[in-house]
Amino acid sequence: MSKILHRSTRADLPTAAGGCGIELFDADGKAYIDASGGAAVSCIGHGHPEMLAALHAQLDKLAYAHTGFFTTEVAERLADRLVADSPRGIDYVYLVSGGSEAMEAALKMARQYFVEKGENRRKHIIARRQSYHGNTLGALAAGGNEWRRAQFRPLLIETHHIAPCYAYRDRLPAESQHQYGERVANQLETKILELGPDDVIGFVAETVVGATAGAVPPVDGYFKKIREICDRYGILLILDEVMCGMGRTGTLHAFEQEGIVPDIMAIAKGLGGGYQPIGAVLLGRHIYDAFASGTGFFQHGHTYMGHPMAAAAGLAVQDIIRRHCLLDNVVRMGELLDQRLRERFGSHNHVGDIRGRGLFRAIEIVEERSSKSPFAPASKLNVAVKREAMARGLMVYPMGGTIDGVRGDHVLLAPPFIIDAGQLDTIVERLGDALDAAIAA
Ligand code: PMP
Repeated sequence: MSKILHRSTRADLPTAAGGCGIELFDADGKAYIDASGGAAVSCIGHGHPEMLAALHAQLDKLAYAHTGFFTTEVAERLADRLVADSPRGIDYVYLVSGGSEAMEAALKMARQYFVEKGENRRKHIIARRQSYHGNTLGALAAGGNEWRRAQFRPLLIETHHIAPCYAYRDRLPAESQHQYGERVANQLETKILELGPDDVIGFVAETVVGATAGAVPPVDGYFKKIREICDRYGILLILDEVMCGMGRTGTLHAFEQEGIVPDIMAIAKGLGGGYQPIGAVLLGRHIYDAFASGTGFFQHGHTYMGHPMAAAAGLAVQDIIRRHCLLDNVVRMGELLDQRLRERFGSHNHVGDIRGRGLFRAIEIVEERSSKSPFAPASKLNVAVKREAMARGLMVYPMGGTIDGVRGDHVLLAPPFIIDAGQLDTIVERLGDALDAAIAA
């Protein structure tokens, strides 16, 4: 009997024993195509020899040095690389150990920024109902996934939520995509005015929504409008690209496709590609300068921040992406995946929407296509899809979520950036079989 409190006490999990390229192997030698990159983590695949060499080299040199005493060459190089490869406006890096840590730090950073400026009364965080920002208390409070929040609500800081940008379900028939984007973005302004502009810290959103709704991209112009509103009221735009960032959508940051730059952003997952736990907050010079000319430090910190082994993994991921032109492959294979999904599911009666960017794609599962009616929650379709997929040697990321009272089952795909066309065909074929079997069950 396992002595681990797994995600479910009823879990009957296979034991992962090895991995190579896009596949994981269990202890019985069965292979699973990692079509979800775990949870959009494994961007360079498993057992990458160049990564292993980089980690061995760092381990030989230095495994750990506390950031209260030292900086390290490897952490400095990673920060330099992240800033150099980001658009103007991203100037500094704060290294932590994962996505929730990055979001916690981002929220506290935003608050301290205003305290440094003497604007102590700012206390409100505005986020969106369709969002997940992590499971620690601050990040959970910002998130809009009621199922995850409900029992912890008494422990959560007060946050405020507006509608997500979710065109498949919410755009009115008479509205263009652009008009829809403006309408939902304007909810931010309404909320700021309701709370009092001088009391608001910032707005938090995933650039492309991940786990709660399945690779939901914003409509054109939405984030431009959001940026405009944030600027008008002097509040910070905090983007969570923990899942959708670090190349997953075809550009290093997903926001690059929106023509905006956030003040603060969180990254993780693909940053270390699963080889080490690592996350980071990226921030603009104005945030840094407020600390520098004020108290001189960000009042935060973790024992393992800036960990040399984690930084080495982060740097190696970027080296491998560059050396093998993997962002080009994300764009090309992403388009092919979209095409294959449309061929297989474009007229499937139980697939309502096919969406996403780059190698961050999803299908939304519905009971009936034309009415978009979802399956009843009791059907637990996401659980069945995962089971059927695993039986067929396929890892996908199915979730069921409820947004504004409407349940949405979806299956998220986030395969490694090294994927090829033949492997995509196998993924789509197995997913189709798994979905049909889950619905028939
Ligand atoms: N933000 C987003 C958008 C995420 O998808 C996740 C993880 N699924 C997190 C934050 C939290 O990251 P972690 O699990 O590394 O704490």
